[in-house]
Amino acid sequence: ATPMSVMVGVGKAAEHGILIRQGEALQLAGQLDTVVLDKTGTITEGKPRVTRLVPADGVSEAELLGLAAGLEQHSEHPLAQAILTVADERDVERSNSSGFEALNGRGVQARSGNHTLRLGNRRWLESEGVDLSGLQDAADAISNDAGTPLFLARDDQALGVIGVADRIKDDSRAAITRMTDQGIRVVMLTGDVEASARAIARQAGIDEVHANVLPEDKANIVRQLRDEGRRVAMVGDGINDAPALAAADVGFAIGAGTDVAIESASITLMRSSLQGVTDAIGISRATVRNIR
Ligand code: ADP
Ligand code: MG
Repeated sequence: ATPMSVMVGVGKAAEHGILIRQGEALQLAGQLDTVVLDKTGTITEGKPRVTRLVPADGVSEAELLGLAAGLEQHSEHPLAQAILTVADERDVERSNSSGFEALNGRGVQARSGNHTLRLGNRRWLESEGVDLSGLQDAADAISNDAGTPLFLARDDQALGVIGVADRIKDDSRAAITRMTDQGIRVVMLTGDVEASARAIARQAGIDEVHANVLPEDKANIVRQLRDEGRRVAMVGDGINDAPALAAADVGFAIGAGTDVAIESASITLMRSSLQGVTDAIGISRATVRNIR
């Protein structure tokens, strides 16, 4: 491609709020045949709200919320914000804890006296020996509603489950339809559980879903697709998407996302809309056509 036509293409993209860091990414965008999308903050708004609070027997709603908020006050995850917001709205005090730790793709934990408090997903809490069977029905109701169930435990004792749900962005479905019309294979990746992931995928019009994906495995899925000969874009917003963004042929970072994601990607979508991906592919194809 001539430097001139690439410059024109990069300028045209910028008018659409698509910031291309390397001219090479513009040319690669036109060759993409697979787009891998992160769920939270990419397909969805990334502003989850608490939809349900279900304390275990003998636990009050305020106790469940206060302990959860105490854990999440040190976390930067969007799920944490949802819990802190509802605790504040209800004037529930955040419980004290110490030694806070965030475990990527799992949840958060801290110490309270002689006890360990944990808030996170089923797989992690069960691996820590917590019996969640008493909360099964509540958790199913949450995930079937496209929500994410977060379980709270003190040591091996389940204290309750909190449902947090996020909405898909207004134009995600239209953008995904356009990708499919462009001949692109669309894949969704998420650390979330299968039922919640499926519910969002259905709303977005996506058939191919990988759920329960740990952050370190997102990049592996991208590499595997490339090994199969696919030309792969990754679209993501979070710290946990950074390795996958770097592993893709073209990484698209959501402009409202974290700095780490933006630094790992070759293209930034200032409008935070998936339409930016289809626009970039269209502009790239037109640019390359003009060059030939
Ligand atoms: P995604 O791929 O959808 O952006 P993450 O990898 O960030 O999701 O998180 C995957 C799962 O790990 C969440 O759905 C949640 O169950 C759990 N998790 C991660 N961080 C937290 C947190 N701060 N509080 C509670 N649960 C968390
Ligand atoms: Mg995300």
